[in-house]
Amino acid sequence: MAGNWKMNKTREEAMFFSNKLTQDLAGMNFQIVLCPPFVFLQNVAEILTGTKLHLGAQNCYYERSGAFTGEVSPLMLKEIGVEYVIVGHSERRHIFGETDEMINKKVKAILDNGMKPVICVGETKEERERGLTFCVVESQTRQALFGLSKDNVEKVVIAYEPVWAIGTGIVAKPYQAQEVHRFIRKLLEQLYDEELAQKIPILYGGSIKPDNFFGLMIQPDIDGGLVGGASLDDQFIELAKIISWLV
Ligand code: PEP
Repeated sequence: MAGNWKMNKTREEAMFFSNKLTQDLAGMNFQIVLCPPFVFLQNVAEILTGTKLHLGAQNCYYERSGAFTGEVSPLMLKEIGVEYVIVGHSERRHIFGETDEMINKKVKAILDNGMKPVICVGETKEERERGLTFCVVESQTRQALFGLSKDNVEKVVIAYEPVWAIGTGIVAKPYQAQEVHRFIRKLLEQLYDEELAQKIPILYGGSIKPDNFFGLMIQPDIDGGLVGGASLDDQFIELAKIISWLV
């Protein structure tokens, strides 16, 4: 389960909350990743050291260094203890114009620096209404993974995040999410093999809340959640408890 804090919290709040989570989630026996804003990564890294929680970043650039004002390189993230990097989030694609080609470069750079990309894919409301869901998800997934070796693909996490469900309060119905997750799993089988496809975690993201999470998590191809709004407060602890009943 990963919490994407987006552009939220002050430094004090980030430190207080991550401290609380290290205590409240200490007994959980599955991977939990906190993705605070860049400027608080170092503070949160210090709090998470020696605990069961993992550190993630919300984005990165694909070059190692250079004249890229305002960007952060994978090497810089690795240096401060980041293990996961969210890439291709719909807000990055739609607000900041990230293309599939950039996302593929980022995925490769993250892997080259020994971290794991959490690759977000998902259709807009309009694309779903036009019957393009599978087509969009296939194209985004194929392009994000383009040129990766099998060894590298094993380290990837995929997050299916229908854009119409992100931050809207409209969660995908469990069967809707499951059919896309199944589709992604089958695509991974086609691109690689069955064993590898089983190993790659496919998270669902989009308006996850404690009252809708169980129904999603019991679907056979939903391996966890990428949580936005509900990762900012105690709902995150409730969500973790739901997973802990199931693992
Ligand atoms: C997200 O931003 O990845 C997300 C899933 O947001 P929310 O849970 O708020 O819909």
